[in-house]
Amino acid sequence: MSSTNRVRVLARQVGAMSGGAVQQSPPGEEVAAQAASLFKDSGSPTIFDKIIAKVIPSKIVYEDDKVLAFRDLNPQAPTHILIIPKHRDGLTQLSKAEERHKEILGELLYASTVVAKKEKLDDGYRIVINDGPQGCQSVYHLHIHLVGGRQMKWPPG
Ligand code: 5GP
Repeated sequence: MSSTNRVRVLARQVGAMSGGAVQQSPPGEEVAAQAASLFKDSGSPTIFDKIIAKVIPSKIVYEDDKVLAFRDLNPQAPTHILIIPKHRDGLTQLSKAEERHKEILGELLYASTVVAKKEKLDDGYRIVINDGPQGCQSVYHLHIHLVGGRQMKWPPG
């Protein structure tokens, strides 16, 4: 079963377990984030491990020994790229960052600027890190969203 379908199944299970309360909340990414959070501390592999291993294809736009950047499957803007550490090292989400992660966190942010330049996002762009269920995180492998190519709004939804 694909991870997307797995999340949908889990979302239904979460809804059933909560007496339908979750099903009444808006569908889509919020429900998927709630379902995904069931596994947030399990340390189990995510879809991104398969992308790193190139077991499943992705549109890679940048790669070095520590960082991989590829196009989001479900883009929210003309340019929507995910920038991830190749070695997760406990960084399931930003809030799990420890002292030892300072270097890779810097690498990820710097790689984001390299990718933005490659993508010619000269008029600006947005960097987003979703954290946890309330932050709408659905994949528990730290990732930076780089979105651009259109006017962003503020405040974000
Ligand atoms: P999150 O919701 O955790 O902040 O972001 C996860 C992102 O991963 C989503 O924007 C989603 O579209 C993207 N995503 C999930 N599965 C895949 C996949 O198999 N391939 C690619 N390229 N992106 C994916």
